[in-house]
Amino acid sequence: VDSVGNDEAVIATNDDAASCKRCAVALGYWHDRYISYFVRSTDRKAPEINRGYFARAVAIKILVDKFIEVNNGNCQIVNIGAGFDTLYWRLIDEGKSVKGFVELDFPGVTSRKCLYIQRTKQLLQAVSDEDYDVKLNRHNLHGHTYKLAGVDLRNISEVEAKIKESDLEYSLPTLFLAECVLVYMTIHRSSQLLKWIAENFKSAFFINYEMVNLGDRFGDVMLSNLHLRGCDLAGAEACQSTETQRKRFLDAGWAGADSYDMLGIWARLPPEEIARVTQIELLDEQELLNQLFSHYAITTAWTDHRWSDVQL
Ligand code: SAM
Repeated sequence: VDSVGNDEAVIATNDDAASCKRCAVALGYWHDRYISYFVRSTDRKAPEINRGYFARAVAIKILVDKFIEVNNGNCQIVNIGAGFDTLYWRLIDEGKSVKGFVELDFPGVTSRKCLYIQRTKQLLQAVSDEDYDVKLNRHNLHGHTYKLAGVDLRNISEVEAKIKESDLEYSLPTLFLAECVLVYMTIHRSSQLLKWIAENFKSAFFINYEMVNLGDRFGDVMLSNLHLRGCDLAGAEACQSTETQRKRFLDAGWAGADSYDMLGIWARLPPEEIARVTQIELLDEQELLNQLFSHYAITTAWTDHRWSDVQL
């Protein structure tokens, strides 16, 4: 696997994402009663950042819920580079159960998540089942439906072994979710992963939230901010445009793909939600938010044409 000097900085991006989500939730942008078990402090972020996280959270919620609904829950979810994401607990609260739910991340992240789950009754209860004893070790948690596994996503044989241990069924419709993850791997490694998924899961749907349009001045600033923190965006070439995002899936053997930047996504969000959140904080500069929105995109891809209708 590639050099790992950068891994600590990549792992730290999860703390950042989790603390931004915590801040936006504390201000009322969306509801999440679990994020505070993973992040204590509510450090205030800029209004543009909060609104950016809101747009991403609500758009992904709509897509995930649609996929579960069209499958009547007879499906699985794999969250790639899940960090401290709380999606599993939200779904349980809303009664939207699925057949299997797997979270993958570096062992340095999953060990902390294991610890938080273990010591928090509200988190542990939702992964427990009367007839099934939760198995836990330092980096992995194996519940009846929920599995959390420490793995380096650049190592396909490791990923394959973890997926096998998770009792996923290759034939069931399966949603893969990656939020700001693939960009930290070289394009060679991420396409290997995407190819492996497409070859093994005949009915897969992918939601990828990631940067785009990195070639311009604002994109340069985003890249250098990450570099300053020691993060190498090894896969930035797939983030040049919505077209390169679509192409990476098609080249990896996916049957179809769509990609929209967050300006386009924002325009499709429920108007009443937009009206509500624009009241929470005033923006100093609409232009900064527009710049942010035009530098992130949601790409969806499918190996099964039935899922091409899962759209915002
Ligand atoms: N998806 C989460 C979210 O949106 O809150 C976390 C996003 S964080 C920016 C990126 C995550 O990807 C981190 O948790 C990091 O550890 C994980 N990641 C990146 N490269 C990885 C790799 N090669 N193997 C395992 N995890 C990786």
